[in-house]
Amino acid sequence: MLNIILFGPPGAGKGTQSERLIEKYGLVHLSTGDIFRANIKGETELGKLAKSYMDKGQLVPDEVTINMLRSEVEKQADPKGFIFDGFPRTNAQAKALDELLNDMGTEISIMLALEVEENELKERLKKRAEVSGRVDDADPAIIENRIKVYDAETAPVKDFYQGQGKYVGIDGIGSIDEITSRLNEAIMAI
Ligand code: ADP
Repeated sequence: MLNIILFGPPGAGKGTQSERLIEKYGLVHLSTGDIFRANIKGETELGKLAKSYMDKGQLVPDEVTINMLRSEVEKQADPKGFIFDGFPRTNAQAKALDELLNDMGTEISIMLALEVEENELKERLKKRAEVSGRVDDADPAIIENRIKVYDAETAPVKDFYQGQGKYVGIDGIGSIDEITSRLNEAIMAI
């Protein structure tokens, strides 16, 4: 199996690039943010809970997120592999993901980290707010909080995969096609 983690701060382009990669490699795309938003739309209990955190730019608690992710992974019959987008966001999530994949006789192949500096991220999120309708994109204070949470809780996940020799940094500045090419090069080199 080819199991990719697409990593990077809010606004780095994970969703856009995931679309490209799933097409090329026939992978299952699991975006925890998208799954939470679908639950909010469907007014499920999980959605109500997730919304109370997301609207403030906080992380949904690990236990809730991990259980949801596990059930999405287990739903797939004979997958070629996965792209994890927006997960893992904490070291506890990374450990849980390793265990889950290990139980399935597989593992993470590579962590591809899109690197984009903070001012560019803020610009992109401001532009996205005009089209996305996302509450968490609309307010600069919430964007600020998401970046803070990223630096404190999510950035350390890099070390977890670096320790396993799986971390690859990718320059996330350039055209969408250029960045896709960089990602493909890194995948080909696995
Ligand atoms: P972005 O990367 O642009 O911030 P996402 O769609 O990945 O957007 O995430 C939106 C929000 O959903 C996060 O700010 C957080 O509240 C919640 N969320 C998504 N994935 C996770 C996760 N793995 N753990 C905890 N919360 C999450």
